Amino acid sequence: MTRAALFDLDDTLFDHRGCAHAALSAVYESQSCFQSMTFAALEQAHADFLEQLHAEVMLGRVSVDVARIERFRRLLHAAGANAAGEDPAAVALLYRDTYRQRRRAVAGAAALMAAVKRHVPIGVVSNNVLDEQQEKLRICGLDQFVDELVVSAEVGVSKPDPEIFRVAMNRLGVSAQQTVMVGDSWAADIEGARAAGIRAIWFNPTGAVAPDSAADVEQLRSLEPADEVLRVILGKARTESRRRAASSNGRRCLSGNWPVRNFAGRRRVRSS
Ligand SMILES: [Mg+2]
Repeated sequence: MTRAALFDLDDTLFDHRGCAHAALSAVYESQSCFQSMTFAALEQAHADFLEQLHAEVMLGRVSVDVARIERFRRLLHAAGANAAGEDPAAVALLYRDTYRQRRRAVAGAAALMAAVKRHVPIGVVSNNVLDEQQEKLRICGLDQFVDELVVSAEVGVSKPDPEIFRVAMNRLGVSAQQTVMVGDSWAADIEGARAAGIRAIWFNPTGAVAPDSAADVEQLRSLEPADEVLRVILGKARTESRRRAASSNGRRCLSGNWPVRNFAGRRRVRSS
């Protein structure tokens, strides 16, 4: 019985990728030195620097503000800008302003959270700093659905460490068997939740191949339609599929025709 639902925030409920794309496009247009690179190359370099510096911030080695400027200093350097020319602080500010103006939820997130909350409490588990994630939820109108927001910077451990999931479960007063986790990152959300004994659902809007095809993990291609996704989150879709598979296997067994196909326990919900 599912008694609590945990969600990742960035690129599961909040459209971080869309905001970042818009912000980086503004940066790309603003500096002539970036024209020496393709936008795809700039995007990749930015993602690499972001990941490196995000890890430094999470470890408390640099502040968020310093990391933001350092990211664009490295990006300008990679584009061949001369040190005296462009101002990384100004580029960082342009990126941040554009990102903040474009903040929006993933399609269907609010309707889904409203539907889930009618059945079970909701926790959001995110590798980030508290005020940033609180603000994203508020701007997108999602904060009203969140019972507990657990961020790595506050609790001192990051996904996939099972401890961050345990903190969320303790706050919600539920066990691992009663909990489900929905997230887009296989490494952080799916492996982390499974390590904590939690049923995991992979939000996979691009239809990527599961890194571990042997893992019995359900997938969602979209957060819509809410009623169908809700059934997956509450575990009802899986229960019904298994019941159907068991009854169909039973019929085959009775007729002496043994099943040759194992039930994979997967279900995909596609966008309508
Ligand atoms: Mg994510």
